[in-house]
Amino acid sequence: MKGNLIIISAPSGTGKTTILKNLFTQTKGVTFSVSHTTRAPRSGEKNGIDYHFVDQETFARMRANNEFLEWADVHGNFYGTSREEVNRRLEQGLDVFLDIDVQGARQVREAAGQECLSIFIVPPSWEEQEKRLIGRGTDSAQTISLRLRNAKKEMEDAGLYDYLIVNDTLDESVAALRAIIIAQRCRTRRGPDGQPLVLPR
Ligand code: 5GP
Repeated sequence: MKGNLIIISAPSGTGKTTILKNLFTQTKGVTFSVSHTTRAPRSGEKNGIDYHFVDQETFARMRANNEFLEWADVHGNFYGTSREEVNRRLEQGLDVFLDIDVQGARQVREAAGQECLSIFIVPPSWEEQEKRLIGRGTDSAQTISLRLRNAKKEMEDAGLYDYLIVNDTLDESVAALRAIIIAQRCRTRRGPDGQPLVLPR
């Protein structure tokens, strides 16, 4: 049975990556689609694991060949989701998470309609989010201020998503996300481990 396509968006510094890491350690049958990006790797990021880091020419060629399910210019860099990679993993029966921005989410919703589930995560406050972005220590002051400005714009799309999670405490956010995933599997006649449900005779 095919897996579920799950869009997850959140303004930078919301804590999405930490929530997803925790969810993945607790939940079977889930995987990430590794995006392509023209952004430079941050320290510690690995090619093929965090992103496929590509140059502008490669990205443009893939875009022209219609290899992306969706793509967007986010904070001045290009990001795209490989159609082939997503389909392959869905066919393997895995639930595929797309960690994409609001522009990409709009494109996937248009292409996949009812076939995808979308979740938006928001920070408990702007002050907290700014603190997290600064604390992360990976971006310049200029990048942080651009990301904060974009975050307020991205919030306008929150109502288009199926679910909204306010990331107040990590444990509760992970529990909420896990509950959503399990509910989705049950809706499509699956068990909580993602496998087809065997009905009692
Ligand atoms: P970061 O540079 O912090 O890794 O990601 C910046 C933003 O780009 C995040 O909001 C992330 O969700 C988004 N993003 C990452 N990969 C993709 C992608 O393939 N497509 C789109 N549309 N957005 C992406």
